[in-house]
This record gives sequence, structure tokens and C-alpha cells, in this order.
Amino acid sequence: MDFEAARTELIKRLTTEIRDKRVLKVMSRLPRESFVPPEEQHLAYEDIPLPIGLGQTISQPYIIALMTASLGLTGKERVLEIGTGSGYQAAILAELARLVVTVERLPALAKEARSLLGSLGYKNIKVHLAELTLGWPAEAPYDAIIVTAGAPKVPDILLKQLVIGGRMVTPVGSRYEQELYKITKGRDKNVVQSLGGCRFVSLIGESAWEEE
Ligand code: SAH
Repeated sequence: MDFEAARTELIKRLTTEIRDKRVLKVMSRLPRESFVPPEEQHLAYEDIPLPIGLGQTISQPYIIALMTASLGLTGKERVLEIGTGSGYQAAILAELARLVVTVERLPALAKEARSLLGSLGYKNIKVHLAELTLGWPAEAPYDAIIVTAGAPKVPDILLKQLVIGGRMVTPVGSRYEQELYKITKGRDKNVVQSLGGCRFVSLIGESAWEEE
């Protein structure tokens, strides 16, 4: 299969909906096929989420592009990602920001992503195994936070790990469907924008859902 041609075709289709050229450029170079299991590789450039094992998924390319673009990264930022999964989103962020701190609660996925991102040469991504408290307070505050699992409500504990003026993008809703929110943290109040509907696997933990 010609992955490069399929990748070019997908990015061309995304161009009609995603205006941020920098995000699309990064996605046009990154091999999504390397982040999915061998049996899913032929579907790597369909605009759909794909299973990555342990009941988890790599998100749909359109949603990844939309979320990444909404963070307005310029290259100087420190970014926190919740839900490393395959490591694909972390790799995109690492091309657009200074540092990416990413946390994953499933040890096998964290280990695999760490080793893949290392072998791809990324030096500005730290993969941590999630602790009880959501996020990674030890290295807070962050300029941007991206939550790649669905939460029942906006996780306030993550807003605390964001700088004033920082952006957080997070799916919020039921276990099965959510709305994507972009929240810009203000000194007194936050600005909340909806980016549309989405479907993510559940964010698990103290400030989120119980494991099923
Ligand atoms: N961003 C990923 C997709 C993640 S799927 C990618 O690019 O492939 C969501 C991930 O969030 C799953 O791997 C799941 O195990 C993880 N997760 C769920 N709750 C979490 C929590 N509280 N802290 C860290 N990771 C969590």
C-alpha cells in the first residue's frame, strides 16, 4: 500500500475544513500507520478512529487537526496531553510546541508510546504514567492542555494546571458522545467555545468516570 499517497489524499480532504496550515503540514509528514497495530495499517488514512488495543483508540484525523489547531501553538509552549494512547497526538504537538508532557493511565500503552516516540527521535516529549490526580501538576503550569478522552464535566483540576491566557481543549458529555470545548483561562472568568460534537473513549479517574 502507498501510505504516502493515501496521507496526501487525506490531508487534501482535511484542508477544506481545517484552516491551520502548520497543523496540516505536520500531519502530512507524520506516518500515522506507525502508530496503529499492523492489522489496522491499511486504514491509517481513513478519517476514522482506530483501535490501538486495551479498548482504546487513536482519534479521527479531523478531530486531531481541529483540537490541535484550536490551541494556537507558536512553538514556544509547554503543552500537557491527557491520554497518550498511541503517541500520535503527542508527536504532532511536539512539532508545534517546545515541550509536551503527556500522561497515560495504562502502563502497556505508556511504555509502547515512549519507545515509539523515542525511536522516531522525539526529545521534547515526556511520557508519564498517570497518578491519582488528573494531569501532571509536578510540571504545571502549562500554556495549553489537550484532553483526548471524554470527561463527564470540565475537569477543574486541569484548569488549575493552566496559565492565565492558556487554552484547554476537552471533550465533555456522556460516556458515548461528547461536545468538544475550548476553554481560555481568564484571571476572573474563562471563555468557553464549542467546537462541535465528538466521540471519545472515557477519561477514567477521580475527577472523571469510573472504570467499567
Ligand atoms: N491521544 C491518543 C488517543 C488517546 S485514547 C492518541 O493520539 O493515540 C485515550 C487515552 O486516554 C487512552 O489510552 C486511555 O487509557 C487514556 N486515559 C483515560 N483516562 C486517563 C487518565 N485519567 N489519565 C491519563 N490517561 C487516561
